[in-house]
Formats: sequence, structure tokens, C-alpha cells
Amino acid sequence: MNATVFVVENIPLIKKGDDIALILSEQTELREHDIVVISSTVVSKSEGRIVSLDTVPATQRAKIIAKRNCNDPGFVQAVLDESTEILLESPFLLVRTRNGSICVNAGIDHSNVEGEKNILLLPEDPDKSARKLKESILKYTGNKVSVIITDTNGRAFRIGQTGAAIGIAGIKATRDWRGTKDLFGRVLEVKNEAIVDEIAGFANILMGEGNGGMPIVIIRGLEMYHESYGIRELHRPEKEDVMRRALKAQSV
Ligand code: GDP
Ligand code: MN
Ligand code: MN
Repeated sequence: MNATVFVVENIPLIKKGDDIALILSEQTELREHDIVVISSTVVSKSEGRIVSLDTVPATQRAKIIAKRNCNDPGFVQAVLDESTEILLESPFLLVRTRNGSICVNAGIDHSNVEGEKNILLLPEDPDKSARKLKESILKYTGNKVSVIITDTNGRAFRIGQTGAAIGIAGIKATRDWRGTKDLFGRVLEVKNEAIVDEIAGFANILMGEGNGGMPIVIIRGLEMYHESYGIRELHRPEKEDVMRRALKAQSV
């Protein structure tokens, strides 16, 4: 296997209403089954998910949490509004977003967003955003590609952040090794590889976190195209999630 990875150059600052699939198709020549990895920041911007902190009226609850966590009350309110479940309130908010992923501060970001008071929410339905991008790229280029929308996430137990997939289309979230054999003929019983997170992590190395202006990475040669499922495949069912249960038990 031999894969090529490259950044798409000359992507402008993205604004509400921008057609990212069109901008991308004009900047680079895509091929059938390329994997297009796009940072959630630019997808959110194109979907107009910027909110000014001044316009979020904070409830009493948000004010209390904000004080404990040394955060802005409007920011905390925005996190609560984007969440369906709170796993940890302090020293930071760990929540389940409406889309089902568990992350710090509902993935709401300040960085690479114009305006002191502006924050950026994650795309409302990242799988849907990925599907729309995939369909538009097919329309503009005639090629079927996979799309992975990423965000930079922290990890429990480990220092440092990595890219994670938050919405996908045209690719399966995992590669299942269960039932196949290892080098010595033993049947693998638990290995289910989260390939979209691995790809997101690698693409994130090229994107960086700062002012590089490189929100789109293309991976060619992996041949992982699949009429897919969506990121929900990666969300551990609540009844199997011992960490989630433990966190919630200690926070009451
Ligand atoms: P996140 O990981 O999705 O939260 O996004 P980051 O803020 O880490 O940005 C990832 C990459 O996209 C970095 O190289 C940023 O400089 C770049 N980026 C963010 N917004 C824009 C934009 O509007 N236009 C361009 N060209 N690059 C952007
Ligand atoms: Mn982010
Ligand atoms: Mn990032």
C-alpha cells in the first residue's frame, strides 16, 4: 500500500454561505476515492455557526458553572445549549453534544475565529455536513470521494490533543479485524480499528492548529471508499460505557 497525502493550498478565509466543495474543486484536481479531510472550523464557518458571546443570555446555572470554571457565562451557556448530557461540570465541562459525541465544551472554539467576542459552534449535524460536501464534490468533479470532518480533541488519560473525526461520509468509521487471524493463526477477538480517527489524526499534523490556513487535506491511495453509515458507529452505547457511568456517579 502506498498513500499520498497533501494539503490543498490557497483556501480563503471561509464565511457564511461559502461553497467549500466548489472552492476545493477549483483549487485541486480530485480523483475517484480520494479521502477529503476537512477541519470542522471551516465547515462551521460556512454554515454560519458563529455566535457572539454578548448575545447569549446566561442562566443562573451557567453563571455558577462559569464562576467555578473561570469561564465566560455566555460561553458556558452556549456549551449547555449545545449539550444533551453533562458528564463533568468542573473544572471543565465535559458534555455529550446533540450529535452524540462526548467532548470538552461541546467542541466550541475561539481560535481561528474573527472577532474578540465570537465563538464557533460545531456543525449542527456533522454527518449531514459531510454527506452534503460529498454530494457537491460529486456534482462538481464527477468523482466519488470520502469526506471526514475533523476537530482537535483532548484525550482522557493522555496529555496532548489529536485530530478526531466528528462527521463522515463515503467511508466506514471502523475496520473490523474480528474473526481474522494474527501472524500465528490466533483468531482476533476484539480488534476493531477506528480508521477515521487515525486518518483525522494524521491529517491534523498537516493542518496544524495555528495560522497555517490549511483546513483541507487530501489522502490518495488508501482505497477505503464505502457507502457509509456515519460517525455514530464510533459512539459507545451508554450501557456499555463504564467511564461515563463512573464520571456521572461521582459528579452527583
Ligand atoms: P479545528 O481543529 O477544526 O478546530 O480547526 P483549527 O482552528 O485547528 O484549524 C485547522 C486549520 O485550518 C489551521 O491550519 C487553520 O489555520 C485553518 N483555518 C481555520 N479557519 C480557516 C479559514 O477560514 N480559512 C483557511 N484557509 N484556513 C482556516
Ligand atoms: Mn476545534
Ligand atoms: Mn485544530
